[in-house]
Amino acid sequence: MSDKTTIEWTDATWNPVTGCTKVSPGCAHCYAEAITLRFRRGGPYLPGLATIRLHEDRLGQPRKWTEPRRVFVNSMSDLFHEHVPFEFVDRVFQVMADCPHHCFQILTKRPERMLEYSQRLGVSRTWPNHVWAGTSVENQYWADRRVPILREVPAPVRFLSCEPLLKPLSLDLSGIDWVIVGGESGPKARPMRGEWVADIRHQCERAGVPFFFKQWGGRTCKAGGRILDGKLWNAMPFARPSGATVAQDSFLLASCVREGDEVAAT
Ligand code: SF4
Repeated sequence: MSDKTTIEWTDATWNPVTGCTKVSPGCAHCYAEAITLRFRRGGPYLPGLATIRLHEDRLGQPRKWTEPRRVFVNSMSDLFHEHVPFEFVDRVFQVMADCPHHCFQILTKRPERMLEYSQRLGVSRTWPNHVWAGTSVENQYWADRRVPILREVPAPVRFLSCEPLLKPLSLDLSGIDWVIVGGESGPKARPMRGEWVADIRHQCERAGVPFFFKQWGGRTCKAGGRILDGKLWNAMPFARPSGATVAQDSFLLASCVREGDEVAAT
């Protein structure tokens, strides 16, 4: 966990879970796995990607961060992995509920389990209005399966991370509030074509959905830079006013859209 990160669309990472298993082609060159291998003689992610570890000692970290920030939940794992008990997810959600000064961003390749969890929350507890829900889509096959499920999750902001983008995508963006696109990085990075990125940007423009271009990718995440058609694309979403606790929309406006961010008209 870190209160600083180089991931462009967030401010901090929080990893109460580490370890995962691969589910789709986007996992082929998993960053968490690469880090595990790099530090195999000792490091925070041993004993390996396939071993799920629940870190109770990390649960309280966001409470110590007094300055509001965007927090990427489980950048090195998947909170909704089938081996993470819902009882532990409950504890993660309790911490998030206790920290409404932050904006939490959960990204999963298992939206079906995220939806199942949201349905277990029941009427006495609602999905917190400062917790965004996202899913990764790397090709059309997974877009067609994951996006409709994400659309059912009652989060104030639902987002797609099209990274690593491996193929062109035709997206139904109804009920989707934000799209991030990025190319793969690392020694075995698979190429991303510019026309795929431009086409997704056009789909976002037509749908009025903020578009964030994270990186071209390449040998390193910075290798190709972030410029698309001569500019940066850093749009971030507003919360939809239909969230369960509308009162916190002012928080979202104040804390999740920072000065200098490009904000798409919606
Ligand atoms: S879901 Fe994410 S963390 Fe898990 S194996 Fe795939 S890329 Fe790695």
